[in-house]
Amino acid sequence: MGLIVKEFGGTAVGDLDRIRNVANRIVKTYTAGNNVVVILSAMAGITDGLIDMAHKITPSPDKREMDVLLATGEQTSAALLSITLMSMGYPASSLLGHQAGVMTNCAFGDARIVDVGASRIKEYINNRRIVIVAGFQGCDEEGNITTLGRGGSDTSAVAIAAAIDADSCEIYTDVDGIYTADPNICEKARKMNKVSFDEMLEMASLGAKVLQIRSVELAKKYNVPIHVRSSFNEEEGTMVMDVDSDMESPVVSGVTHNKNEARITIKTVPDQPGIASKIFSAIAEAGILVDMIIQSSPTDNLNDLSFTVPKKDFKEAMKIGKRVGSEIGAKDVLGEDSVAKVSVTGVGMKSHHGVAAKMFTALANENINISMISTSEIRISCVIEEKYAELAVRALHSAFGLDKEE
Ligand code: ADP
Ligand code: ASP
Ligand code: MG
Repeated sequence: MGLIVKEFGGTAVGDLDRIRNVANRIVKTYTAGNNVVVILSAMAGITDGLIDMAHKITPSPDKREMDVLLATGEQTSAALLSITLMSMGYPASSLLGHQAGVMTNCAFGDARIVDVGASRIKEYINNRRIVIVAGFQGCDEEGNITTLGRGGSDTSAVAIAAAIDADSCEIYTDVDGIYTADPNICEKARKMNKVSFDEMLEMASLGAKVLQIRSVELAKKYNVPIHVRSSFNEEEGTMVMDVDSDMESPVVSGVTHNKNEARITIKTVPDQPGIASKIFSAIAEAGILVDMIIQSSPTDNLNDLSFTVPKKDFKEAMKIGKRVGSEIGAKDVLGEDSVAKVSVTGVGMKSHHGVAAKMFTALANENINISMISTSEIRISCVIEEKYAELAVRALHSAFGLDKEE
């Protein structure tokens, strides 16, 4: 008898028919003699709808109350699935995050899991009940409801799988597995059978939202292999696991894009110690994560400084940029939120030269202008105009020989 964790994304539980399909899938595993712990997302579109509703009341709703609001999405789907299973004659119980023992810090909207008690989960499975846990949520030490950031049910699933020492952790989504690029924009993308934790970490951090990055961090830390597969068919998906990327691995193994960043440029700031520190300390104090940073080389003791921030924090970062900009005597502060970041990743890059040149040439051939570049050992990213993101992904995918054969 196995202990199986299954997580279903929003599309999989998008309506009552789909919830019934999910129930049938669970029953199949359960009646084969396994214990099943299910982690659910909110029904597709519900989280977005709740966010929109709150923003109709005020542009900056209280963060604690937002988490109380957003957690209702997963509460609804968990209860509906449990009701469905019970109506089919199977013993099921739903648990909210705090009832399942998911303890987090108090960073509302982006909380980190600090511990998973799981005693009630264990008690239920010992009694052969199917346990359904509301994903994406937990509670802090004061008992406040918290949420784990967009896509957070992936992280709930991996954390719970680690806590109960599950035999497998399956994440069911609307695609068949992990592809060399988002299959919804690159039809020549290829499904991969296996991806290493490190490669998946890189892809998730660069915008492949198929897995929340923190779920991959936890999976690597606790060595929990994740099987990413489709909720619509029975095909094997992709194993995300501790695989050695061998010498034969392709130079570039994936192309990712991210439309969730915005660029801010602080024009003509004095070229002297302490300037970057002032700007980025103020941004950090506001809890805003900066991704790329570029500083031009000084002309007449003046520099331009550009950086990117998440689009959701763009307005606040602009306010801070303008305030600090005027304190340090910058000439102007410019913002652009219709940008995208496209990246190529691959551990094989470490031992190859010419990857950057090939990337820039592929973009140039499509007449796409690059406004920022950053590199690491296993990644190159370029910021471009948002409207060219899809074209850029397809061009890079072809240029690096990743297209599947016709
Ligand atoms: P769910 O609602 O099931 O959690 P998500 O929308 O969070 O689903 O994630 C699945 C989506 O991730 C896919 O529909 C696909 O558009 C996107 N995606 C981005 N990059 C990739 C990739 N490299 N491989 C597979 N899917 C990807
Ligand atoms: N419902 C949440 C979201 O839409 C969490 C999730 O789907 O994983 O981001
Ligand atoms: Mg998701």
